[in-house]
Amino acid sequence: MNNRTFRDFSLSDPIVRALDALGYTHPTEVQNKVIPRALDKSDLAVRAQTGSGKTAAFGIPVCEMADWAENKPQALILTPTRELAEQVKEEIANIGRLKRIRATAVYGQQSFARQQAELKQKSHVVVGTPGRVLDHIERQTLPLERVKYLVIDEADEMLNLGFIGQVEAILHALPEDRVTMLFSATLPRDVEDLCDRYMKKPIHIQVEADESLSGRTDHHFFVVGQDEKFDLLQDVTVVENPDSCMIFCQTQERVETLYTKLESLRYPCGKIHGGMEQTDRLNVMNRFRRGEFRYLVATDVAARGIDIENITLVINYDLPANAERYVHRTGRTGRAGKSGKAITFVTPSEQTLIEEMERSTELEISKAEFPPRDEVMRKKAAFEEKIRAQPMPKAHKSDPLNRGIMKLYFHGGKKKKIRAVDFVGTIAKIDGVEADDIGIINILDHVSYVDILNGKGPLVLQAMKNATIKGKVLKVQEAQKGE
Ligand code: AMP
Repeated sequence: MNNRTFRDFSLSDPIVRALDALGYTHPTEVQNKVIPRALDKSDLAVRAQTGSGKTAAFGIPVCEMADWAENKPQALILTPTRELAEQVKEEIANIGRLKRIRATAVYGQQSFARQQAELKQKSHVVVGTPGRVLDHIERQTLPLERVKYLVIDEADEMLNLGFIGQVEAILHALPEDRVTMLFSATLPRDVEDLCDRYMKKPIHIQVEADESLSGRTDHHFFVVGQDEKFDLLQDVTVVENPDSCMIFCQTQERVETLYTKLESLRYPCGKIHGGMEQTDRLNVMNRFRRGEFRYLVATDVAARGIDIENITLVINYDLPANAERYVHRTGRTGRAGKSGKAITFVTPSEQTLIEEMERSTELEISKAEFPPRDEVMRKKAAFEEKIRAQPMPKAHKSDPLNRGIMKLYFHGGKKKKIRAVDFVGTIAKIDGVEADDIGIINILDHVSYVDILNGKGPLVLQAMKNATIKGKVLKVQEAQKGE
């Protein structure tokens, strides 16, 4: 980071205020390099890791350029996983909150019809996985003619997962006159090919993980027989006694088995893998993010790009398949200036593999001795106390941003022919309220939601109890959390 602030870019006031509220004061290196060029409409091929602040690097220009009045999507962001799609959508929604930018996430295993209904409303930014995005394009439920920005996030993983055909089909369907930005942790040949074929003289940008954001991680490995792994895991968790820890396994079955064993020992834990229902996966991630339990057992689905603050320890219970996955898994810790630790269990026959990973990642991954018995015994009581204690809920970075916002629920929607302008017209007439105090409006068939900004929610709620919209008094109340 440096002394530049976000005010030094030509960004509009609602964007800068949102960044302030999120606690983003100084741009990170990738943001410094990307934002001015993206605003200048150059194509960009960016080599950057998660933890560098890359989501905001494309999120800020995308929100800045979006024309609020335009109803059709103006930016399309492709991500390899559903979790990442949700997370990117959240970041865009936060950055764009005060400009009332609406972001919609679309991905498989979630109702197509529900996404279709959301896309029909004003959706400035669409974030999705390639398969489902293509489905929407083919069924003509995602209009592309106004898309001016395309972002391909985690391009290397996208290609690893075999999405190349779908990504190319989407590229062909998009208007030619657009800005394309590609982000990738590594730039293998196939990613470079993609840049060569579909981008216009892309500017290549490379950034190292931002130390001040990514913090520092110590890397160690233990050589351990397959049968001894579980005993070692118990000892390591006692000695490290982490506040928040991710444990990676190679397969879904191994996640299930380990999770069951840990649960029977009363570890406060959760699990996540690709065989679970999407809603359960999101639910687990959110609960872990909020600090409701300390240990998350996961396959690589949770490794890519997922941003959870304050994970102090990552354990590779099974060696990752390759160096790239090692980087992504262990990148979950040592973030936001905090220090972290990554511990890998390596069977004797895998020792050469971890040494290769050390070379290719250029990380220092040192061999460690098993924790001595007496140390484990000495630390046992503190460990027991922590796993039994109720964890402190973690604050979320968007809390300050949301503080002045109240979501109102109105009993009436499209079926009563109500439109966004009807809400704006009525609410902006309330004494002490201006159009700028009205946030995102979401009109469904029978109900509507309206965000009221700047702490004016209670005032509007009171006034709307008697006011009419299109000649009707609608029942109104504060919406439930999560609605
Ligand atoms: P990313 O690389 O996009 O996954 O971002 C890593 C983390 O850095 C996220 O928690 C962001 O909220 C946070 N972040 C991004 N930009 C900034 C900034 N300029 N200042 C402080 N934190 C940031």
